[in-house]
Amino acid sequence: MKKVFVKSYGCQMNVYDAERMADMLTTEGYSETKAVEEADLVILNTCHIREKAAEKVYSELGRVRELKKERQTQGQETKIVVAGCVAQAEGKEILRRAPAVDVVVGPQNYHNLPELLRKARSERVVDTEFPIEDKFDHLPKPSKAMIRNRGVSSFLTIQEGCDKFCTFCVVPYTRGAEVSRSVTKIIDEAVRLADAGVRELTLIGQNVNAYHGEGPDGSIWSLGRLLHRLAEIPGIARLRYTTSHPRDMDDELIAAHRDLPALMPYLHLPVQSGSDRILDEMNRKHTGDEYRRLIERIRKAQPNLALSSDFIVGFPGETDAEFEDTMRLVADVGFASSFSFKYSPRPGTPAAEMEVQVSEAVKAERLARLQNLLETQRQAFNRGTVGQTLDVLLEKPGRHPGQMAGKSPYLQAVQIETDCHQIGDIVTVRMTQAGSNSLFGEVVKPGNQAAA
Ligand code: SAM
Ligand code: SF4
Repeated sequence: MKKVFVKSYGCQMNVYDAERMADMLTTEGYSETKAVEEADLVILNTCHIREKAAEKVYSELGRVRELKKERQTQGQETKIVVAGCVAQAEGKEILRRAPAVDVVVGPQNYHNLPELLRKARSERVVDTEFPIEDKFDHLPKPSKAMIRNRGVSSFLTIQEGCDKFCTFCVVPYTRGAEVSRSVTKIIDEAVRLADAGVRELTLIGQNVNAYHGEGPDGSIWSLGRLLHRLAEIPGIARLRYTTSHPRDMDDELIAAHRDLPALMPYLHLPVQSGSDRILDEMNRKHTGDEYRRLIERIRKAQPNLALSSDFIVGFPGETDAEFEDTMRLVADVGFASSFSFKYSPRPGTPAAEMEVQVSEAVKAERLARLQNLLETQRQAFNRGTVGQTLDVLLEKPGRHPGQMAGKSPYLQAVQIETDCHQIGDIVTVRMTQAGSNSLFGEVVKPGNQAAA
């Protein structure tokens, strides 16, 4: 059997796509390996969101080229594929910069991989057209064993692409226009995952709450309605979704946070900045106060909500006062966890052409201040859960023998001492201590067992 090694960079969409590529290649006679040295096929599933992410690919390609040469001296062939958003954005340029690469394939085309690998026996190939057909229709279904191997929490893509065109972002160019999968296809996939033992589904999309898929009755379903339907699937105990845009948080979705016990009290809702002028320049189409009011409404529906966000500092033209608006918004709203980045100019996006770029030194200083505040809030949130009794989904063995690791409803990592539970159980845990990255707790009730 030939071996494939897949390395994924960036967002959850890439993690999901990497799994689909591995599933597909099993039908072509490949088995997945975690050791790149023994791989006959190396796939780098790349991210183009910031310059650093894109450049990482080229340094990794340098290392893989050395392995390819070494295997060649032993008479073994290695094919190298660059997939994902760098592939889409740079296409042929990758073949020029990295002569060891055999195939370049965009995120909408990876269902063509078997065909591209056949072609690559005699030539180097690039496939980055946006096809009309739905790639998901061409992908084989993973076996129960493969699903189980990946754990009890699974991603499920329900929507792809983005029509929002925030001025800093490459996603609309690399992932294409917004498309929602049909309800029937999503339910089929969710049932298959649940039958194999998956207990938690995270619905993913670049703009997941803009979901508007065709229902079985021909009407258009919103994300709120889809979540209610997915909660009915036997075995599925927890639902999450990411990443959302503030403009698409509709009443039905907010009500689901109140009415649907399976929908976890956690929301990743990027705000990017607290300054109205910067938000306008970013083309986010909401103000800081609109975001504050939206969060108030969601917290009214789900008072226990753990809120998470993305922030960009040093967007072109951002003044000290405008950065302070972001700090104020963070102080006002309060976040349980967050991701924050220095603005990175992306070729082809409007913000990259804006005249007044902020210096690296100023960006670094602002990022440090913001991250300091966000980290203080994260730790305070974690400490606030000590003493509480929360359900924990057990996902894997813990760090030490006799321990298991799982996730709280708020997506916190939790370590518990136990020797009588199995992966997939949901146990009720009293939190006893907050470490820097995990909580520690003791089981107070065995809770809801995983299906045998
Ligand atoms: N769709 C999501 C939204 O509307 O917020 C964001 C998806 S994007 C893959 C993830 C995050 O990367 C963004 O929220 C933003 O904070 C960050 N990001 C995107 N482009 C960036 C850039 N040019 N520089 C720095 N950070 C960027
Ligand atoms: Fe990028 Fe998100 Fe804006 Fe779409 S909504 S352009 S994915 S940041």
